This record gives sequence, C-alpha cells and structure tokens, in this order.
Amino acid sequence: MQAEIINGKEISEFIKGRAAKEAEKCKVSGREPCLAVILAGDDPASQIYVKNKRRACEECGIRSLQYTFGADVSEEELLGLIETLNSDETVDGILCQLPLPSGIDEAKITNAISPEKDVDGFHPVNVGKMLSGKDCFLPCTPAGIIEMLKYKNIEISGKNAVVIGRSNIVGKPVSALLLAENATVTVCHSKTKNLKETVKTADIVVAAIGKPKFITADMLKEGCTVIDVGINRTENGKLCGDVDFENAVFAAGAITPVPGGVGPMTIAMLMQNTVKSCKSRLNFH
Ligand code: NAD
Repeated sequence: MQAEIINGKEISEFIKGRAAKEAEKCKVSGREPCLAVILAGDDPASQIYVKNKRRACEECGIRSLQYTFGADVSEEELLGLIETLNSDETVDGILCQLPLPSGIDEAKITNAISPEKDVDGFHPVNVGKMLSGKDCFLPCTPAGIIEMLKYKNIEISGKNAVVIGRSNIVGKPVSALLLAENATVTVCHSKTKNLKETVKTADIVVAAIGKPKFITADMLKEGCTVIDVGINRTENGKLCGDVDFENAVFAAGAITPVPGGVGPMTIAMLMQNTVKSCKSRLNFH
C-alpha cells in the first residue's frame, strides 16, 4: 500500500492563514508586525530564500524591511545595524540570512540579535529556553516538523523517533522538540554504527543529512512516518530529499515529499514567530 503524502504546502498555507489573522489583530490594536531581514553577499540561494520570505510577509500582512550588503560588508556595519534594529520598537523580528561572507563571524552576528527579536530561534538564550521547556522562539524548521505531525494527528508521545543528523539548526533541535512531545528519541549521525538497524526501530524517522536518497525503503519499519528535511540535487539537477521517496512511499505509512514537504513549513513558522513577537511587544495574547 502507498503511504499518505504529507502535504507541507497545504499545512503551511494553514499556518500562514492563522498568522495573517493574528497580524490583522496586531494592526487593529496598534501596528502591523514587522520583520527585518539582513542579506549580505551574493549567494544565489540566499537571495531566493530572502525573496520567498518577503513574499510570505506580504501574504500575511507583515511589514518587511530588507537590508542588502555586498560581500565586502564589515562586521561593524552589520553589528551597528543590528543594534539599531534591536532598539527600534516597531521591529518585531530580525534575521540575518546565512551563510555570511567569509571573514564575518556568524555566531557573533546572530548572537547580537536581541533574543526577544530572534525569530529564527538560533540565539543561545532561545536554545536554552527550548531545552528547558520555557516559552521562546522555536527554530523554524524543527518547529514546522512538529506542527506537521500534529496537523496530521500523528501520535508522537511514547513513539520511537529516530533523527538522522545532529546539526544545530535541524537535527539537535528537532530531537529536543520530539523529546518534549514525549517521544523516545535516538539521534544518529555520521559516526553511528548500525544505522539501518536503528532506523528500523523508528515509528517516526526524521532525515536531516544532506545526502540524496540516503534513507532507503529497506531501512524503514512498515507503516512508519517519514519526515524528509533534505534539500539536494540529483546529477540531472532535479530536487530530491534525503529519502529515496519513490521506493520509501511503499514502506512508510505517511511521508513528506521534496519539494512540497518540510520546505514550505520553515517560512510559515517564521511568519508565526514574527506575529508572536509583535503580540508580546503590543502586550496582547
Ligand atoms: P549539516 O550538514 O549541518 O548536518 C548533516 C548531518 O548529517 C550531520 O549531523 C552528520 O553527522 C549527519 N550525517 C552525515 N553523513 C551521515 C551518514 N553517513 N550517516 C548518518 N548521518 C550522517 O546539515 P543540516 O544543515 O542539518 O541540513 C541537512 C539537510 O536539510 C540539507 O539537505 C539541508 O539543505 C536541508 N535543510 C532543509 C531545510 C528546510 O527548510 N527544509 C532547513 C534546513 C536544512
């Protein structure tokens, strides 16, 4: 039997629709939410991501500000701008599109963003709060994954979740969020032995590796849920995930496609975080 396809586009539209309603309430009670995006350098993928974020802001009734710099921007210039945006009470979210040009200390820049405006959820203060279960900005891709599972009524509590990948932006935080939802979580990485046996125990598989079609159908437990975070290109330039979708679809019970799975969720969660920030600044919940 073929797995149910988890439609990230549909779920992200739902989240953005909800954010738009909340943004409208903000507008009525003072002002529209505002997201400031900093783009430095000429990375083509970053330019596309920033354009998509701006478009999502328009859809949701969020004011967007864009600050564009060349690859020769200095750390001081970026830090100066962040300081100005931190103290501007009409700005709710600040994000600096990564990667930054070489020579710029990314951690120094992202850590300069006020934790109250860190809508990407990367600041150590928000990471610490997330780990201790306190209210904070959750990182967008991991939070989007949990939203997808909940939207589809996929039980997390008590289930075995296996996360492949331990990056700070996906693997580690999604493991923490699954644990917070009472899953029994195993994190696999490049040094893991017996990967196949471990993945086979999973009711929920999250693949965040960055290797095309790395997770194959024979690694999956019959009927499991597969969340594919990977964004890769095949030799012929086609977009594909970390999971061999064409075959995995016959082993899994539910699966996200690439594109159209986790990808759209990331921006939707960014909109949600920006509105959340505005609501707390306007003092209503
Ligand atoms: P990363 O390179 O920082 O981390 C990859 C992880 O995979 C590492 O922790 C590594 O230990 C693990 N890994 C590598 N080889 C392995 C192996 N043979 N066996 C087991 N584990 C192995 O990558 P990342 O930033 O976490 O991104 C992962 C993928 O997700 C990429 O394709 C990226 O483009 C994509 N991504 C998508 C979104 C989205 O919005 N959909 C967001 C972020 C990242």
